[in-house]
Amino acid sequence: MLIEFEKEYMDKYWKLQRAQWYNYFEDENYNLSEIDADIYDTVKLFNKEIELIDRKSKIASLLIKKDLVDKNPLVSEVRNRIDNFDNYSDNISDDIKADRYQYKLALSYKMKDDVKKLMKARNDLSKQMEFDSYPELVLITEEIDLVNLVHSLNEFLESNLPKAKEIIKKYNIKWETWFSDLSRIGVTKNQYDPIELVDQLLKTFGFDEIKEKIQISFMEKGYAGCAAELSPNDIRIVIEPINSLDNLRTLFHEMGHAILYSLNKEEGIYKILPPSQDEAMAVVIEYIATMLLNFNETDREKIFEIITLEYTRCAISSLYEFDLWQNPEQAEELYIKHYSKLGIKINNPSMWASDTFRSIDSVYVHNYVIGAMLAEKVFTYLKSRNSCDYKEWGDWLIDKIYKDGRKRSFKEKIKVLGDFI
Ligand SMILES: [Zn+2]
Repeated sequence: MLIEFEKEYMDKYWKLQRAQWYNYFEDENYNLSEIDADIYDTVKLFNKEIELIDRKSKIASLLIKKDLVDKNPLVSEVRNRIDNFDNYSDNISDDIKADRYQYKLALSYKMKDDVKKLMKARNDLSKQMEFDSYPELVLITEEIDLVNLVHSLNEFLESNLPKAKEIIKKYNIKWETWFSDLSRIGVTKNQYDPIELVDQLLKTFGFDEIKEKIQISFMEKGYAGCAAELSPNDIRIVIEPINSLDNLRTLFHEMGHAILYSLNKEEGIYKILPPSQDEAMAVVIEYIATMLLNFNETDREKIFEIITLEYTRCAISSLYEFDLWQNPEQAEELYIKHYSKLGIKINNPSMWASDTFRSIDSVYVHNYVIGAMLAEKVFTYLKSRNSCDYKEWGDWLIDKIYKDGRKRSFKEKIKVLGDFI
């Protein structure tokens, strides 16, 4: 039964990976809800049929539980509608569309009801399955402890907030222009060749042989960067043309995903990584690459300023989100309460609804913060063990984290570095 499930599930999993990619980056128009419905049929069929006897059957049952909610036609229909901004952009003038902040604000007003509807559907379905809430379902199916996680998020925020506030002041960063302000921190004028940096990164760890599996395209598609595995050994990255240190940071981040996908030797459902491991390990490479590659010192410091800002924002975003799931009717007040911690003026709290981490990828943003916490621990640990033999670092990453995908839980894999998830 498990073998049948695995085969059927993987076929549909890859199909969805490809359809999503082609819709985002190749202007295709695959019907994602149809593929979701197909996956839903599979998990419904095998739910209760899988006997819990070993690690693999446990993972199968966790995937099934999550998809019984996320691929439920009610959820999938609203989620996929929100995933395409064209569904909300009628009657928004070109002037407004030209201003990123104003455009997102205009979308927020139009999306808000759908976002609330999606939250409610996910929560109701999770409760029907005897979880306390949707966030609990997500974290249990990821094998992460909610209490431990929230504690770590608060700790991270407490230690990084003072630094973040200083950087915000130093560069006069505003909430309305956050992302363009980050690009402003370090503009690059062709002094770094991204492909050379990628080669250097792979060479440093002794990962040269995976280079041919990874295809990188530089294009403006409205995304800072994105990486995906479309089928085994077909790994792609799309990233904005490199004009800033923030773009370079994003390149290392996407390479972090790509390395993780290429060095995962598993097949079948162990190949599918929990989002926590996937996202956190991307942040780890982003951090280590910035430490190890050839940058001038000022640029390196600036990239770390951007890293501090981004992951402090993510920590606030995730704590806001956990609060929001408990008090959805206070979305606007809570938005101001949480984000004001950055020490900047937060106008237009209605903005909350257009944040994709509240809808398309909800209960996800904490994974970046897990990565930021882990990055420092991995760096310190490897430095103390292997000093500057970076090939040994690469071997450690392969052996302890990459090669066996989801065969062991992420928590188990990083246990040697602390118990924070
Ligand atoms: Zn990522």
